[in-house]
Formats: sequence, C-alpha cells, structure tokens
Amino acid sequence: MKIADYHIHAIETGTFALDGGAMFGIVPKPIWSKKIPADDENRIVMALRCMLIMSNNRNILVDTGIGNKFSEKYSKIYKIDHNKVNIESSLKKHGLTNKDITDVILTHLHFDHAGGATCFRDGDLTPSFPNATYYVQKENLDLAENPTEKDIGSYRKENFEPLKKAGKLEIIKGESEIFPNIFLFISNGHTLGLQHVKVSDGKNCVVYCADLIPTASHLPIPYIMGYDLSPLIVIEEKKKLLNNAAEEDWMLFLEHDPYVGVIKVRKSEKVFEIKEKIEL
Ligand SMILES: [Zn+2]
Repeated sequence: MKIADYHIHAIETGTFALDGGAMFGIVPKPIWSKKIPADDENRIVMALRCMLIMSNNRNILVDTGIGNKFSEKYSKIYKIDHNKVNIESSLKKHGLTNKDITDVILTHLHFDHAGGATCFRDGDLTPSFPNATYYVQKENLDLAENPTEKDIGSYRKENFEPLKKAGKLEIIKGESEIFPNIFLFISNGHTLGLQHVKVSDGKNCVVYCADLIPTASHLPIPYIMGYDLSPLIVIEEKKKLLNNAAEEDWMLFLEHDPYVGVIKVRKSEKVFEIKEKIEL
C-alpha cells in the first residue's frame, strides 16, 4: 500500500496469548470464545503486528512487538512464540535489518508494544534498533515511570530506561504531524498518552489503532478490555474513531488480531462491521 511517499507494510513479529476474559472485559465467554477460541488455560493467541513505513530516506517502525527478554517462566505464561516469524525475519522480507530502522514510534510502553524496543547485546540492555530515534508521549512515559497498582505489571523499566540512557528517546507532548503526512493523535482511555499513528494523503488513510481496538472482534462498542484504565473514555474514543473510519473510508490497522491485519468498516444501524479486509 502506498500513501503519499510511503510504502506501508504490516510486519508480523510473533504471537503471544493473554487471558480471554481480560481481553473482552464484561463480555461472557460463550460469546467471545466464538470469535477467538480460548486454549485450555483460557488464553487467546494474538498477533504482535507492527507497521513499517518506508520512504526514500526513512524506515519508520510503529511499535516493536514483545521482544525476547522474558524469562522462561513468563514466556510460558504469555505463550510467546517467535519461531514461525519474528521482527528480524519480517524486516528481512523488505530488505532491512534492525540497523536500517531510522525511527520507532511507540504507541505506549506496555510490554507487548515496547518489549522489542530493547534487547540484551553482549550482556548489556541496549536499544534493539541502534540507529533509530524512539518517540513516546510524555504523559505515557510519566505513567510508565510511576505506574498505578493496576498497570504496574504492564510497564517494565527494561523496555524504556535503556533508550533514555542511550539518549535515543524523544519525548513528545501532544498531537503533531511528526513527519510529512504522518500524524500522531492521542487517546487516554486504555492508558494515558497513547499515540495513534495516522498516515494520510487526503485520499488514502491508515490508522494504527493499537489497544483502542486491538482486534476486529472488538468492533462492538462495549467489547473493551479489563486492562483499560478508563472504560467509559475508551468507549467514547472508540466510537469517535470508528465513526470517522466509516465516514472517511479509513483503513484500520489491527495490532493484535490473529486473523486479519487491516480492515475498513461500515456502520449499519448502530453497529460497526467489517466492510473490507486489506492486505498491506
Ligand atoms: Zn496496552
């Protein structure tokens, strides 16, 4: 898919699994398990899908996957699987290595988005993309450094402190056009200062939904996650995004959907549904 001067690709970085009940909040299991089946530990397998935006002089990555710093115990709990596909193998398909990434936009610092931002190299924790500038919203970094008791397990310092130490983390305040035709807008319901990436040339538009709409199974408005900090704010932000997407024919990039990467939606009555599935 080409938008403005950018070639845009979906980059699979592996899979992991989270508790299906936590992923679907108040929705009863007999309903959600028809959409994404649970394993014998009640977990659902999910994608760790990043967006790669390539131009003549930039290779921009949106989010980084879960990374490979987890202990064996937690790798099992989260069913982390990098065997079939990982960030290196996916970048290689586009002729790139980690060293070619110029910019990494982190939507937020939860471990399944920022875990791949850092890695162990020669025993030291270091940025995984050594030539990249990383971008995060100030409000999200502030929360990650002082998390609440609810989200302390999701914000792990090893995913962002090495970036700060290396002078590679650029802190952004608020919405902006970060590069020509690449816009950042904020949502605050899932967590504070979650930055969504929107690439638009006025004709075609793709929006990286991150955890505001993690999968296509979360299109119904009340299907929101137990992880969300402010459920009623998520509902308002999600409605606004889906209404815009339906009216303006935007593509929605789904980070965690195990079956489909990018969709367009339509509104019928008061319900949003998939209008088209798109291969990037
Ligand atoms: Zn999150």
